Amino acid sequence: MSKPVIHIIGAGLAGLAAAVRLKDAGADIALHEATSQAGGRCRSYHDATLGITIDNGNHVILSGNHTALAYLDLIGGRDRLTTPEGAIFPFVDLATGERWTLRPNDGRLPWWVFDTGRRVPGTRARDYFGAAPLMWAGRDKTIADVMRCSGRLYDRLWHPLLLAALNTDPAESSASLAAATMRETLAKGGRACRPLIASDGLSSAFVEPALRYLEAQGVRVQYGHRLRALGLDERRVAKLDFGEDSVPLAPGDGVVLAVPALVALTLVPGLQAPSQFRSIVNGHFRIAPPPGLAPMTGIVNGTVEWIFAFRDRLSITISGADRLLDTPRETLARNLWKEVSVITGLAEDLPPWQIIRERRATFAALPGEDAKRPATDTAWDNLVLAGDWTATGLPATIEGAIRSGNKAADSVRKKQYGLSRDYDRTTEHRPVIGTAA
Ligand SMILES: Cc1cc2nc3c(=O)[nH]c(=O)nc-3n(C[C@H](O)[C@H](O)[C@H](O)COP(=O)(O)OP(=O)(O)OC[C@H]3O[C@@H](n4cnc5c(N)ncnc54)[C@H](O)[C@@H]3O)c2cc1C
Repeated sequence: MSKPVIHIIGAGLAGLAAAVRLKDAGADIALHEATSQAGGRCRSYHDATLGITIDNGNHVILSGNHTALAYLDLIGGRDRLTTPEGAIFPFVDLATGERWTLRPNDGRLPWWVFDTGRRVPGTRARDYFGAAPLMWAGRDKTIADVMRCSGRLYDRLWHPLLLAALNTDPAESSASLAAATMRETLAKGGRACRPLIASDGLSSAFVEPALRYLEAQGVRVQYGHRLRALGLDERRVAKLDFGEDSVPLAPGDGVVLAVPALVALTLVPGLQAPSQFRSIVNGHFRIAPPPGLAPMTGIVNGTVEWIFAFRDRLSITISGADRLLDTPRETLARNLWKEVSVITGLAEDLPPWQIIRERRATFAALPGEDAKRPATDTAWDNLVLAGDWTATGLPATIEGAIRSGNKAADSVRKKQYGLSRDYDRTTEHRPVIGTAA
């Protein structure tokens, strides 16, 4: 008798994580990807304008993102991440020229807020506890409902960190999504919030090792294979329609739908899912970073929010950037570079540049959108959902996407075969030790 087949639709991180976790499931895995490349919103590509390989957008994970780290450990991608010696976040205020370095201490007891050398200049220790109500806020609350969204500490700490995590103006964002992120990172101390960056590119850490891992199991991605429709009967997916070809499903076969929310809405009848999104703008400048520039610098009172220093380029990130979608690219590049040159001391002449605007980078982290996120299981016995937009309890992040893929794989396995005991080892977490930068 032939093995059942689990079809995974979408080779972003959610789909890849599901495929990796379904290893040894006793099923064949078929991965279908619409484009010519795996990685989805987290990928590298060769940019012809710059003549170098860049990422679609700068990505950071934190050492508290234990599911992402377990995935990297399993596929062999962890050593492609670099990290500073500790939780170190250099900042520059473009309005005043002030520079400081935020340094949360390693342990859970946050004594760093009492240390003027570690906290934000011009703030008092007691200001930091103003964010505590986030931790017990209801799911319908925005951040502005539960904490003050103004003042020096907000402008210099909470706004940049929460905007980066939620990709939505923090004041209108879900307090419970912010709390979920904080609980797993900053609230656990500096040990859980060391920034980890894929210095050689996102694909080299998150995607290529996964493809190698899967290939070793005989699993290959079918590229250019866009699912057009799900052939649904009352209880099951009976057929997958890819336009040119269609695949009938046998009784034991299953489907993990790991496509973006807007695509899932067109494929699954009656689905409720987030339908508002926020963009991210990235600017890439082909120039060697000046000596001593940190791998990642936060900017306040500028348009640029973060500068990333890579070997062959400086890349900047602006989150929640819908206001910049209509600015001409050249104007944007010039304005952004002006700020970068002030911060880095590099000449004002514009180096070769590329602007990438991801219009629907993440769903808007509003309480109402969060409430629309669907569970893994659907009304169809052999169809499960994955993706950063499903109900992970986290904002749309790498950590959330991988968790959703794991959850989908576990559900398929349970439905089709029953879970095996040793399976949960993929969630084990090896702490980040030392530095690789
Ligand atoms: C610019 C940018 C910066 C970001 N920065 C960070 C960060 O710093 N830290 C962080 O944790 N997260 C960050 N994120 C979020 C992170 O990238 C996403 O949460 C994650 O990659 C989502 O993975 P996914 O698999 O859920 O979805 P996707 O990556 O969207 O994958 C879906 C896949 O499905 C494919 N597909 C679509 N339709 C079909 C179809 N019909 N048939 C077959 N395949 C289909 C797509 O081509 C894609 O490959 C950022 C995102 C962006 C865009």
